[in-house]
Amino acid sequence: MRLKDKIAVVTGAASGIGKEIAFTFAREGAKIVIADLNQKGADAAASEIASTGGRAIGVAMDVTNEGQVEAGRTKAIAAFGGIDILVSNAGIQTVAPLDQFEFVKWKQLLAIHLDGAFLTTRAALREMYKQGRGGSIIYMGSVHSKEASVLKAPYVTAKHGLIGLAEVVAKEGAKHGVRANVICPGFVRTPLVEKQIPEQAKALGISEADVIKNVMLKDTVDGEFTTVQDVAETAVFFASFGSNALTGQSLVVSHGWFMQ
Ligand code: NAD
Repeated sequence: MRLKDKIAVVTGAASGIGKEIAFTFAREGAKIVIADLNQKGADAAASEIASTGGRAIGVAMDVTNEGQVEAGRTKAIAAFGGIDILVSNAGIQTVAPLDQFEFVKWKQLLAIHLDGAFLTTRAALREMYKQGRGGSIIYMGSVHSKEASVLKAPYVTAKHGLIGLAEVVAKEGAKHGVRANVICPGFVRTPLVEKQIPEQAKALGISEADVIKNVMLKDTVDGEFTTVQDVAETAVFFASFGSNALTGQSLVVSHGWFMQ
């Protein structure tokens, strides 16, 4: 029970990585707010946690919408009385070469990853500062927070940006005991990645098997996907760490695709 009675808001937790983090945090004793654009999915995940004796609520939230983020904060406080952990995880992927990238799609991706991170961070910080018992903010970065790939200009830009945001939160939050860190996973087989496989195959003119072997996993040490459990375990580590010694950091979990 490494997170006993902590209150955690996890965005994008109706699916994939965020969902596994929500389930893992619940098993570690936390009370979970599952915030997602997909209200049905958020409610279903919350019911699943409740059916195994955990505590969770689903909240409909578009992280790019200031009013919805603030409403989500109010619901979290009404349900559980505060916020101790934020996992800013909601995200999308859109692939295209830069010269063909539609501006509207560029703006949509940056808004979800960066405006969403800002709005949820601000909401969580206001609560954490008021509570006076510290807190942990975790951003879902990517290996693309560290290096580039073709076809992913706004994603690489946004994921690099999250490291800057985490470092500012680490500096401003320190006197309140609020830590901020970034998890940088390699490829994880979630719906976000399943969608990319045929898209990249088409854009690069290669087979789907080649996208997996020669694009996604080419530089790993063992040709393996990172799993949702790998990422959730890293999130527990950051969330449960006991002091400001571990703040402003980014940790790559990618089967050695990227090494620092
Ligand atoms: P996913 O598609 O399985 O889940 C993403 C969730 O975010 C969905 O439930 C979706 O409804 C939600 N979402 C999308 N837009 C939203 C918005 N505006 N407001 C609230 N919720 C919204 O994807 P995933 O693979 O689990 O990705 C989660 C995070 O992990 C993303 O930030 C992604 O960039 C990052 N990431 C994923 C991988 C990977 O290989 N899957 C690798 C590195 C980083």
